Amino acid sequence: MKHVLVLGAGQLARMMSLAGAPLNIKISAFDVRSENIVHPLTLEVLGNGLEHAIAEADVITAEFEHIPLDVLAICEKSGKFLPSTDAIKAGGDRRIEKGLLDSAGVKNAKYAVINTRTDFDAAIAHVGLPMVLKSALGGYDGKGQWRLKTLDDVDAIWTEMAECIAESESQAIVAEEFVPFQREVSLVGARNKQGELAIYPLAENVHTDGVLTLSTAIDEPELQAQAAQMFTAVAESLDYVGVLALEFFDVNGQLLVNEIAPRVHNSGHWTQQGADTCQFENHLRAVCDMPLGSTQAIRATSMVNILGEDTLPEAVHSLSGCHVHWYGKDKRAGRKMGHINVTANDKAALKAQLVALSELLDEAAFPALKPAAEAL
Ligand code: AMP
Repeated sequence: MKHVLVLGAGQLARMMSLAGAPLNIKISAFDVRSENIVHPLTLEVLGNGLEHAIAEADVITAEFEHIPLDVLAICEKSGKFLPSTDAIKAGGDRRIEKGLLDSAGVKNAKYAVINTRTDFDAAIAHVGLPMVLKSALGGYDGKGQWRLKTLDDVDAIWTEMAECIAESESQAIVAEEFVPFQREVSLVGARNKQGELAIYPLAENVHTDGVLTLSTAIDEPELQAQAAQMFTAVAESLDYVGVLALEFFDVNGQLLVNEIAPRVHNSGHWTQQGADTCQFENHLRAVCDMPLGSTQAIRATSMVNILGEDTLPEAVHSLSGCHVHWYGKDKRAGRKMGHINVTANDKAALKAQLVALSELLDEAAFPALKPAAEAL
């Protein structure tokens, strides 16, 4: 029996726990907000605090990148933390992330870091308009972002950006050129201590108001090779151990990395039903120094996020190839409450199943599903 302590007690720790049980890997989770050690499924407080949990664990890993630096430091000191604190910091700070991508020679959008109004003017000159402005720390799912289209809006946007920068001493804004992409794709893969890689097929992602709503595994060898090469460069430059995700913009078949996530990722949930070994199991295999599992796709698969809803029509469970995964969370508008994996024998059958699913669901809660399914 191996014991893995996960920093973060959300759905990703929960799904690691579900994947770890058959391998005799026991998971406990550190709830960063309450500072309690909890059971990842029941959220029952397990007591005795972080220091004790660190001492008891064989391995420590993380399910998200916004972890207080003092917590990261004690985990690092234990010598048990994987992937590494550098990887977590790169995922949590857009300045470090951009620097990492540049030093690994991986294409990403042209950018500039803004701390002052003078920097903002310099960024406009360097990056050009339109531009996307993102808080360096703490922003995700499109939060803490602005779009600057014309110079008329500079003063109004600067007022909001200056407020954001003033929130914390270490905060800044990263200005990025607006990328005219056709679609967004992501790559999830695992790397183990021996440097072996196991990379999943790319997923094509649909976002609604900045939040992932639909993710579909795709089979496009040329794009896959490009993405795998960038994945390898990033993973090797971090000497990464565990599952890593890269999000890309696809601009006429040329990929640019948008961001990296040093963890299992929402766009990899399809692997639970659609791949030989799911991302949660492969993350545990990597950090527990076990052989990696096959990442081969076994069926055409999509994942539909359930946002802000805590019930679904019963009929969903009767739809063939449909698997519902609830996260056991209290309902809140827009919150990720669960997901539905939909599998079929081929792409045409998958498309039909997704359209059938969209007809069962409340359109107001899943507005993007039907148009996205029809466009597959
Ligand atoms: P992010 O939090 O960086 O993933 O951004 C949220 C969403 O904003 C992305 O999924 C894109 O749809 C969009 N976006 C972010 N950066 C850019 C960019 N440089 N150009 C165009 N769209 C972007």
